[in-house]
Amino acid sequence: MVSIAQKVRTGVGDIQPYVPGITDDELKHRFGLHQVIKLNANENALGTSPRALAAIRAEVETLYLYPDGGSTLLREAIAKFHGIDAGQVLAGNGSDNIIKMLSETFLQPGDNIVVPFPSFSQYNFGAHVMGAHVIEAPLRSDFSYDVEALARAVNDQTKLVYLCSPNNPTGTILKHSEAEWLLQHLPEHVMVLMDLAYNDYSTNPHRVLETPALLADPRVVTLHTFSKLYGLAGLRVGYALASEEVWNYVHRVREPFNVNRLAQRAAAAALDDEEHRRNSQQHAAVSQAYWAEQMHRVGLMAVPTEANFVLVRTGDGRKTVQDLMQQGMMVRAGFAGLDEYVRITFGTQAENEACVRALADLQLGN
Ligand SMILES: *Cc1c(COP(=O)(O)O)cnc(C)c1O
Repeated sequence: MVSIAQKVRTGVGDIQPYVPGITDDELKHRFGLHQVIKLNANENALGTSPRALAAIRAEVETLYLYPDGGSTLLREAIAKFHGIDAGQVLAGNGSDNIIKMLSETFLQPGDNIVVPFPSFSQYNFGAHVMGAHVIEAPLRSDFSYDVEALARAVNDQTKLVYLCSPNNPTGTILKHSEAEWLLQHLPEHVMVLMDLAYNDYSTNPHRVLETPALLADPRVVTLHTFSKLYGLAGLRVGYALASEEVWNYVHRVREPFNVNRLAQRAAAAALDDEEHRRNSQQHAAVSQAYWAEQMHRVGLMAVPTEANFVLVRTGDGRKTVQDLMQQGMMVRAGFAGLDEYVRITFGTQAENEACVRALADLQLGN
């Protein structure tokens, strides 16, 4: 008998499957709860854009038809929103899908990617699937970017350099001046992937911005998602901006219908929903201040955040997750290098208050 292990492609057995946190359904079942407070996946506390919901309802009747494989109307809406050409836009089944396509397009065994550490695990996943190595360039001890460390980590085999701003799970930003410095110091043979999933939550005037000059650099790709600010995580839709030449190659590995009908319509409608976007940004700004103040009050270190979540040092992150779970609250721990921390997504004001109270009680109990 030839085992399955002998048949699979070299390296596949070494890939660690993604382990998502416990789902809200599981948690309700396990503790007999009717309601849970879900603060573990950076979803939008205000829910989905109402305009997107209306677009989904209107589109449901046409689901027997294939979607537009080129996501034309959505890409045109995104191009208009950013003031660029539709040819510079790629749409994907979430930005996870785009990260995988970029990995499939650029990486082969022997190549490497350079990532900040700690950061988003999907970058490493894309490299592992393609048999490429991951080189981690640590953030500074205050979790700010160390662009010199990133530049030093790059070698002749480096194909992709990832940047994430604000960074998940630390909430810290890459400054525009740091992005410019990096582009000056990185070699021509790398692509620079800037994941801006949370950038609209930052109001810092120094944050990296998608200026025409930045987008004109043929190495630059920026990643965006509808999962967070627009509240469409369950639908799976994201996009990326780069030169048309990049997409000319990525299209060759793209699945023909990679963005479904509902997602295309909903995302275009969400982009048009200025009110929901403004409310979501404002909610994050208020929550950033609230969490900073409250964690200071209860004596827990919180990393200053510019996103819709906050990293808090509780001492033993996994234990905090277990303790809060018993009270029906879900937060996230288990990030590489961050055993002492939990990442808490901003909830509604009532959810935030309940979580702060629970953390304060745990503090007193220690
Ligand atoms: C949530 C998140 C995304 C979005 O992923 P989707 O696949 O679009 O849901 C992308 N990058 C980072 C850093 C994230 O935290």
